[in-house]
Amino acid sequence: MNTLVLVEHDNNSVNDATLAVVTAAAKLGDVTALVAGSNCGGAADAAAKIAGVSKVLKADDAAYEHQLAENVAPLAAKIMADYDAFLAPATTNGKNIAPRVAAHLDVMQVSDILSVEGEKTFTRPIYAGNAIATVESSDPKLVITVRGTAFDKAEAEGGSASVEEVTGPGDAGTSSFVGEEIAESDRPELTSANVIVSGGRALKDADTFEEIITPLADKLGAGIGASRAAVDAGYVPNDYQVGQTGKIVAPEVYIAIGISGAIQHLAGMKDSKTIIAINKDEDAPIFQVADIGLVADLYKAVPELTGKL
Ligand code: FAD
Repeated sequence: MNTLVLVEHDNNSVNDATLAVVTAAAKLGDVTALVAGSNCGGAADAAAKIAGVSKVLKADDAAYEHQLAENVAPLAAKIMADYDAFLAPATTNGKNIAPRVAAHLDVMQVSDILSVEGEKTFTRPIYAGNAIATVESSDPKLVITVRGTAFDKAEAEGGSASVEEVTGPGDAGTSSFVGEEIAESDRPELTSANVIVSGGRALKDADTFEEIITPLADKLGAGIGASRAAVDAGYVPNDYQVGQTGKIVAPEVYIAIGISGAIQHLAGMKDSKTIIAINKDEDAPIFQVADIGLVADLYKAVPELTGKL
């Protein structure tokens, strides 16, 4: 099977999310990476070095500079004439582009796969991860989004794929890029952090969240996450949200502080290697998934813990 992987990039380098998609695609067959961008030679060269990629297709056009889904999807759909499967990361960007590719090809998308069970058979979460469905596609071509935390990352170095230029329909004329606001932070990005300290509604307000959670995260070199309740209450920006409608994370250590453990939150973090929960309610559902649980008042326990580290 010939697979086409959508590379997520900033025109110069490749986003980590792509590496897990390459691993998934390699289980299906030969992997070609599609880099759609503008002045994106750096990203194409980086994609060529990913172990397991046999060819890179570089679509270098001003229309693809910001990877607008309306422009990238027709390009990918056109290239798919020569491929059997299109795979994208289940990130905001991938989830924007892949369904459009599926629509262009008139096939069903298989979303958020966790494993490859056969040529056209995959597992994927349903009911916010409370059940795992095994699904088989009967479409002639596959369009798939891949859950990054479910697959090992391919090595970013070691490959030596050829880079081929391709052209596409260019600007579809249905959308234009206006601007972006990117949060600058020295902290590890949530989806690639080894340790995450997450806070919930119990943190009361933005200042208290900062006062309690940040020093602990600093000590551990951790990323900071939050429950939706904390985000909705304005303690932290919404790109901190972990869960069904936030980010899916699987760090080595996830520390949930003052988070009850609603299924929608668990859906985003229960694959973490070690889960530590601090909650004053011993019946809080978070303790059902926690490897280490501390029944305590966070206002006492967290500063004490931070002080001892
Ligand atoms: P609460 O449930 O209010 O829990 C607060 C916890 O803090 C309690 O367990 C309490 O015992 C503890 N606590 C209070 N004071 C202290 C103290 N002093 N010391 C120690 N512990 C203390 N939620 C997400 O997180 N992510 C999502 O992506 C998400 N998506 C959703 C999608 C849908 C469609 C819906 C309907 C809901 C979604 N939710 C999501 C919301 C989810 O259902 C919960 O409402 C939310 O996760 C609760 O957040 P919380 O645990 O911070 O707050």
